[in-house]
Amino acid sequence: IKEGGENLRSIICCIMGHVDSGKTKLLDCIRGTNVQEGEAGGITQQIGATYFPAKNIRERTRELKADAKLKVPGLLVIDTPGHESFTNLRSRGSSLCDLAILVVDIKHGLEPQTIESLNLLRMRNTEFIIALNKVDRLYGWKTCKNAPIVKAMKQQNKDVTNEFNIRLTDIITQFKEQGLNTEIYYKNKEMGETFSIVPTSAKSGEGVPDLLLWLVQWAQKTMVEKLTYVDEVQCTVLEVKVIEGHGTTIDVVLVNGELHEGDQIVVCGLQGPIVTTIRALLTPHPMKELRVKGTYLHHKEIKAAQGIKITAQGLEHAIAGTSLHVVGPDDDIEAMKESAMEDMESVLSRIDKSGEGVYVQTSTLGSLEALLEFLKTPAVNIPVSEGYNEGWSDAREEKEYATILAFDVKVTTEARELADEMGVKIFCADIIYQLFNQFQVYIENIKE
Ligand code: GDP
Ligand code: MG
Repeated sequence: IKEGGENLRSIICCIMGHVDSGKTKLLDCIRGTNVQEGEAGGITQQIGATYFPAKNIRERTRELKADAKLKVPGLLVIDTPGHESFTNLRSRGSSLCDLAILVVDIKHGLEPQTIESLNLLRMRNTEFIIALNKVDRLYGWKTCKNAPIVKAMKQQNKDVTNEFNIRLTDIITQFKEQGLNTEIYYKNKEMGETFSIVPTSAKSGEGVPDLLLWLVQWAQKTMVEKLTYVDEVQCTVLEVKVIEGHGTTIDVVLVNGELHEGDQIVVCGLQGPIVTTIRALLTPHPMKELRVKGTYLHHKEIKAAQGIKITAQGLEHAIAGTSLHVVGPDDDIEAMKESAMEDMESVLSRIDKSGEGVYVQTSTLGSLEALLEFLKTPAVNIPVSEGYNEGWSDAREEKEYATILAFDVKVTTEARELADEMGVKIFCADIIYQLFNQFQVYIENIKE
């Protein structure tokens, strides 16, 4: 039981916004790491989760408010991919969240995915704060590393303040056009009715203390019930992936309850329910990102809320986006298997297995969904016949479809040779756009 007699779990916060608005960079800034520069093309292609213990939040916000009461053990932030074909992943991330950060580039204002994210948040009635990012790009900005925003603004000259105010007013108007009242957070007297804007720089950290403190205090104040820890396990699979030395693992977000090494679990699988036993519960070190390879901490048990990597046998065909169930002593396994499979239909309905089309292969089911979504958009419109199988049997009759689009996967020399023999063309890329561009050039060539 934490101070105040309340038993609260960590806050789960989702970070959303248009591609390149600075979502990953903002997380990097809070963590003091550099995930963003290590990403392919700088684009986040999977969901990541980062845990910030209350201790670190207190350190980062001390200058703003030294005696802030933090009742939650920490903050779990889920970073979402920004590309337009990741709608499904984004909706998955946001559905788990207690609240969200909507990142807007101060120089760009509202962009298509800002509006899409906004609509998702409103649809789910999720509270959010707007991070008006990249303030350091205002012409003539003086850096005040990691300073509270009011303090940083006081250091700026008239021109900077003017440009800031013009852009802020403009963006408030743009939000109004979307039917949303917004105000800079320290002037916002109608929290809940009017959404707060926190100016930030993910590059030099101005406004980041404000963002962190606002998130925690707002959640503690208005979401006590939602944040009150319950024993019943509530857990969602975010990603399924192969990790060297660990085999196939699943990344999950544990929203409530506890997981233990040795727990029997039921997960929804492509070929039916998977019943298995947790071999290891792994987390990155606090403040590090679940997505990034590194050393993991092993746990005997973990209490919500946390982002966790689970290793167990038979997870190869687990499906991201579905719930994980723990089998208790009185539970009927058959009934649990059934309820585990209920999540599946919506995810699987995306793979159209009828008719002609290209073959796709990806590193994770999450990216498969993203690729399928992308190929389906009207501008792209590439039919898909199969995906995520272990091999392919026959070369397609139509040449343009005798192709494999491989996203974020390694193609072995043997596979390449075999493909050449069979007249199958393999396109390989770790950025969806590039995959599409390669394919388009190829199609145009054969049509000529
Ligand atoms: P995401 O797609 O929303 O995750 O955006 P990223 O975090 O990948 O950032 C996109 C680009 O903007 C990168 O080149 C970042 O270095 C840059 N960037 C992000 N935030 C800031 C900021 O506050 N100031 C400046 N100057 N650049 C930023
Ligand atoms: Mg990103």
